[in-house]
Amino acid sequence: MKAFQLTAWKQGGELREVPEPDPGPGEVLVRIAGAGACHSDLHLMHDFDSGLIPWSLPFTLGHENTGWVEAHGPGVDGLEIGEPVAVYGAWGCGRCARCLVGAENYCEAPDAPSSVVGGLGGNGGMAPLMLVPGSRYLVPLGELDPVEAAPLTDAGLTPYHAVKRSLPLLVPGSTAVVIGVGGLGHLAVQMLSTLSPATVVAVDERDGALALAREVGAHLTVAAGIGAVEEIKSLTGGRGADVVLDLVGSDITLALAGAVVRPLGHLTIVGIAGGTLPVSFFSMGYEVAVTTTYWGTLPELAEVLALAATGRIRARVTRFPLEAAGDAYAAMRAGTLEGRAVVVP
Ligand SMILES: [Zn+2]
Ligand SMILES: [Zn+2]
Repeated sequence: MKAFQLTAWKQGGELREVPEPDPGPGEVLVRIAGAGACHSDLHLMHDFDSGLIPWSLPFTLGHENTGWVEAHGPGVDGLEIGEPVAVYGAWGCGRCARCLVGAENYCEAPDAPSSVVGGLGGNGGMAPLMLVPGSRYLVPLGELDPVEAAPLTDAGLTPYHAVKRSLPLLVPGSTAVVIGVGGLGHLAVQMLSTLSPATVVAVDERDGALALAREVGAHLTVAAGIGAVEEIKSLTGGRGADVVLDLVGSDITLALAGAVVRPLGHLTIVGIAGGTLPVSFFSMGYEVAVTTTYWGTLPELAEVLALAATGRIRARVTRFPLEAAGDAYAAMRAGTLEGRAVVVP
C-alpha cells in the first residue's frame, strides 16, 4: 500500500510503497477514514535536527486518525469488524498511575511506549491501513462523520484538555484569549463558547483565520502585532484575560500571552513553536499560573466526541487525497488553510 512517510529530517514527507500491516496478538488493524495534518508534523519535518528526537526513520505520518475496524489479532474482544472508531493517539503502558486514570498522554513508565506512537515515531494514519496496539485506544465514533471527526483526536482533544483545566476561572464576566486560530484554535473557540460564559477573544495574524474565529463563535477578534496588547487590555477594562491559550508558542506569541494575562490567571502553552517566556517575580501579574499541556486523556476524548455528537463543536476540514498529502502541509505552511487539513486515503 501507499503511505505518506517522514524519511529524513529537515525535509517534507514522501509517498512510498510499504507492506500492509498484519495484526499480531492484542493488535487491531484500522482502515483509515481520515488522518489530520498537524502543525507539529511541520515542526518535525522542517525544524528538528537529526538526533534531537530518538526516533528511527522512516515512519508513516498522521497522528489524528479515525477509521473502521478492519481486522484484529488473537486476544481482542468486544470490537465489531467495520465498527467506526476514533484512534486515541497517546499510547502509554496502561498500568502506571497516570495510565490507570486514562492519562496515557502522561505515562510514567520508564520506557514509556508513548514516546513512540502512531504518526510520531511509529506508523500513523496517512495510509489506507494502520496498526493500533490495543483495543482500549479505539473510541466508538457513533454517527459522526469519520473524516470530520479525525481532527477531534488531537486538534479537538488537545485544546479541550487545556480548556477543561481552566474552566473554574471562566465565570461570567471573565475573558479567554485564544492565540492562533488554526486546526486547534478554531475548535478551542467553539469549546470555550459552549462550555463557559467567558468572553472569547481570538488572536491571529491572518484575516481569514479571524473571520473563521468569528464564524465559529469568537465574540471579539484582534489582529496579532503591534497594538494587540493594548487592544486586549482595553477590551478587558484594563484587567487582562483570565485564561490565555497560546496555540502557537513562539517568542512573540508568548510575550503577548504574558503581557495580557490577568493576575490569578492561567497562561497555557499548547503550541510547540519552541519559544521562551521569561518568568520572574516582576515579569507578569501576581499568581499567574504558567503551564504546558500535551494532548489529553482517554476519557476526555470520549467527552470531545460527545460534544461533537451533540453538534456543539464541529471541525472545519479540507479534504486531501493521500497522493496530495504533501499539498496539505504546503497549504498549512503557507498559512492558506482554513481549519484542518484531513488526508483521506
Ligand atoms: Zn498534533
Ligand atoms: Zn503508563
